[in-house]
Amino acid sequence: MSSKQGEVEKDELLRQLHATQTQLERERRRGCDLEALLGDIVETIGDPVVAFDSDDRLLICNPAFRKTFPIACATLDRDTTFETLFRRAVEAGEIVPTSSDDEVLAGSTPGSDCQEAWIAQCLKMHRSYGGILTQKMGDGRWLRWRERCHMSGNRVGVATDISALKEAQTLIVNQTEHDPLTGLLNRTVLLDRLQMQIDQHRRAGGTGALVLLDLVKFKEVNDQLGHAAGDEYLVEVARRLKAILRFGDDILRLGGDEFALILSAVQDRDTLESVLKRVRTTLGERLELRSHVLRPAVAMGVCLFPEHGADAADLMKFADNALYLARQQGGERLCFFNANLRDGLQRRGNLVEALRAALEQGQIGVALQPQFSIADGRHAGFEALARWTHEGYEVPPTDFIPVAEEIGLIVQLGQIVLEKSLAILRGMLDAGLAPGVVAVNAAAAQLKHPYFADMVTRLLNEYDIPPYMLEVEITENVLLDRSSVQVEWCLHSLKELGVAIALDDFGTGHASLSHLKRVPVDRLKIDRSFVSGIGQRPEDEVIVRTVVSLAHSLGKTVVAEGVESEEHRVFLCDLGCDVGQGYLISQPLRGTDAHLYLASVGATAQGAVV
Ligand code: C2E
Ligand code: CA
Ligand code: CA
Repeated sequence: MSSKQGEVEKDELLRQLHATQTQLERERRRGCDLEALLGDIVETIGDPVVAFDSDDRLLICNPAFRKTFPIACATLDRDTTFETLFRRAVEAGEIVPTSSDDEVLAGSTPGSDCQEAWIAQCLKMHRSYGGILTQKMGDGRWLRWRERCHMSGNRVGVATDISALKEAQTLIVNQTEHDPLTGLLNRTVLLDRLQMQIDQHRRAGGTGALVLLDLVKFKEVNDQLGHAAGDEYLVEVARRLKAILRFGDDILRLGGDEFALILSAVQDRDTLESVLKRVRTTLGERLELRSHVLRPAVAMGVCLFPEHGADAADLMKFADNALYLARQQGGERLCFFNANLRDGLQRRGNLVEALRAALEQGQIGVALQPQFSIADGRHAGFEALARWTHEGYEVPPTDFIPVAEEIGLIVQLGQIVLEKSLAILRGMLDAGLAPGVVAVNAAAAQLKHPYFADMVTRLLNEYDIPPYMLEVEITENVLLDRSSVQVEWCLHSLKELGVAIALDDFGTGHASLSHLKRVPVDRLKIDRSFVSGIGQRPEDEVIVRTVVSLAHSLGKTVVAEGVESEEHRVFLCDLGCDVGQGYLISQPLRGTDAHLYLASVGATAQGAVV
């Protein structure tokens, strides 16, 4: 019998009882004793039935009721009230206190405030007009009581066993909260569980830890032994984790090969480290799978609460960051979150927001650093470098360019730098100056953008700049990119257009000569780190010499970066290096400084340097 059907029948029973009572009156008048019949019905019915008078004293209860509450019903008389019965049942553990959403109340030891409040609430409900009350029984069953108040003031209560319904409900909740493969809790409950633990530790004191685990080389197990073996591997990892942890700790599978542990009441850092060591050694025990011997290994990122934060989402970010670092260090590393990491994250977060705003508000500027002919010192051109002044401070491009690349704003930033550079160039030409070739830096994402060459063409036309006055600087690593076909295609288009191409930071990347052959590069830029070794480190001098001769033998010109001293210049001049750039001649120049520079070195149209 379904519980719903049961309740309908209970209703019907109540109705019948009521009707029978009324009829009884009538029948009594007719001299017929139906009281015995009514008693029979109540005695026979298998579900608990109980009735109280208007003073809440017990009128009747049937055998099913007495069987359900044997201790509470041990002594019954006319003075037994609902309240005495109820309290006795709770104290005897025949009824278990629950919250409104049917959760068993935590800490409900007899006499606790929590339990008393719950009893008061139940009594109030009973004294109201009646209604429905769900009760958890000491033996695990669930009863749903329907109470009805008769005009006379008498109350009748009939109970239905809804354990089956409850079981089904629990099953459904379980399914949505658990990972079907390992049976562990899943990601949906992570933040709730974590917040609960954080709050508890904040109230009661002590430290807890959130540990994120990432299996090392799980993908290889999956790829080489198949998905079924991969599943077995995960199940075994889950089993080992369960075996290590204590009651009160949570283990979750977040998806794929990522797990989380929420460890409660960690005494101190040493204890925590020894727990994590145990996790590592237990997981790493021999595991035989499809006749392969494996030893599961994990990278771990750890943060502590409430020490590192009291917000579950924040802590998740922190632990994730620590895990990221652990993964970067390779293998089975363990990384603790710390204040430096948090500050770094915070700074980066602030930087990201500020950079977005700076781009929107056009606050990214350009500085031009002069390039000169090494042989005679004459002006040759400029390199355009992005500049950002944020809250009165110059943010170094080495800080914001990588961020712009990561968050996908480099295409927009590169375009701004290009457009501003061309605008300055136009201004210089209009002023009768001879700026020479202007080199702009282009990141991989820009070169992969399908309309990069079109955009360059459009801007050159817009500012009426001949293409030979523009150079695009790319780094070696751009050529190593997997989608280098797109990059090559883009570089060839630029070349056709008449734009020059320079390979920046040459010697620091991993590009080979074969890469160099594939792309139409006009110039090589020797990295500053080698130039600075001139006169100091013979091995750097060898590199500089080799790059110059390599470039020349390939028919390319060479630009030396970071030329800071006359000694550098003389050395480079002796090698026949073509162009130099560095503090020896000038720092990068902003605004009208570049105009003044050109005028001061005599780079005018009449001087015909271009
Ligand atoms: P880079 O392309 O190698 O630029 C040369 C860097 O060396 C510049 O630093 C310049 O100021 C610095 N420098 C020039 N001469 C000397 C010298 O004699 N001594 C020393 N110690 N340094 C010198 P900056 O402006 O800080 O730029 C750093 C890097 O940021 C650039 O290195 C480039 O990789 C990147 N960057 C700058 N602007 C842009 C841009 O618009 N787009 C892209 N994608 N990257 C840019
Ligand atoms: Ca550059
Ligand atoms: Ca460079």
